[in-house]
Amino acid sequence: MSVLVWIEQTPDGPVSSSWELAGKGRELADALDGKLVALVMGAETSAAAAAAQAHGFDTVYTITDPALANYRLSAYAAGLKQAVTAGGATVVLAAATNFGRELTAYGACQLGAGLAADAVDLRVEGGKLVAVRSVYSNNILVDIVFETPVQVASVRPRSFPLLEASASGGEITALDLGLAEDDIPEKVLESKVTAGSEVSLTDASVVVSGGRGVASDPEKGFALVTELADVLDAAVGASRAAVDAGYIPYKHQVGQTGKVVRPDLYIAVGISGAIQHLAGMGGSKVIVAINKDSEAPIFEKANYGIVGDLYEVLPALTVAFQERLG
Ligand SMILES: Cc1cc2nc3c(=O)[nH]c(=O)nc-3n(C[C@H](O)[C@H](O)[C@H](O)COP(=O)(O)OP(=O)(O)OC[C@H]3O[C@@H](n4cnc5c(N)ncnc54)[C@H](O)[C@@H]3O)c2cc1C
Repeated sequence: MSVLVWIEQTPDGPVSSSWELAGKGRELADALDGKLVALVMGAETSAAAAAAQAHGFDTVYTITDPALANYRLSAYAAGLKQAVTAGGATVVLAAATNFGRELTAYGACQLGAGLAADAVDLRVEGGKLVAVRSVYSNNILVDIVFETPVQVASVRPRSFPLLEASASGGEITALDLGLAEDDIPEKVLESKVTAGSEVSLTDASVVVSGGRGVASDPEKGFALVTELADVLDAAVGASRAAVDAGYIPYKHQVGQTGKVVRPDLYIAVGISGAIQHLAGMGGSKVIVAINKDSEAPIFEKANYGIVGDLYEVLPALTVAFQERLG
């Protein structure tokens, strides 16, 4: 019996939520009296495997294969299945990133396992995993229980504290992918890295989001949002209205049909606070709203509110933070 965590690799290294799952995974493994196992897949795995070792996994499985150079669902799902079988895993976890959500969903089907998607908490009860999901804009928490021997969950980033590396880890064991290139239907013809070193929205501890409130001068409005975000080392988010109006690309959208974020600080600028937007950011620890309408619904959800014109408030805030943070 073991708890297996997929350590997703990106060009910048493993996704940081892997180390959140390392801490929670240890708690679950101890409760199940089992081992904590990491799985690292890629054309190159040594650095991520060493990082997993340093985060206290009892065993680190590596599957190193040129076919895994780019994420491809069928190849990664085959690797996941190999590792689950090799490690006798009964709990399989991955960060609920785009790839993590897809891999856990498809992987669960392949394993005949139950799936809890986008869980925000995990615990063991009676020797079984219980996954907690948040629904209706974080107003209700639902327990998901499993009827299958293998229990799979994708976990929303920033649900658990980050485990610091302690440099005490177990052995690294290499597994075979067991697939030839011809067996993989998806082919990657070209891949492009988006320009700039933006802070990832789902991993960010601070998010500054802009909404339709910038409509009178969207270019200036989002420049001001971005300036404040830069000073705070924050990611830039947006409401759907801002995305639909073409002020900013979809990848920045927060909400029911965008990304779900859970930062320590969420600053909503010119956003009214529609239920579909709250669905994506209602779990933020501290919410600050800037809106010129004191009756805007966002103020009901916000911990702090500034009633004012964003074109005046944002430059003043940016200067104030610059002075404070140097
Ligand atoms: C199926 C479905 C899915 C959806 N998914 C999402 C989703 O994922 N994410 C999402 O965000 N929405 C989503 N929506 C849309 C959602 O219902 C709202 O329409 C949207 O969130 C509104 O965006 P907004 O707050 O930016 O715009 P508005 O509601 O128009 O609010 C703009 C706010 O800016 C304020 N303002 C105006 N000028 C200024 C100024 N100069 N300074 C300060 N404040 C100012 C106004 O007072 C107002 O409160 C979805 C809707 C549906 C039906």
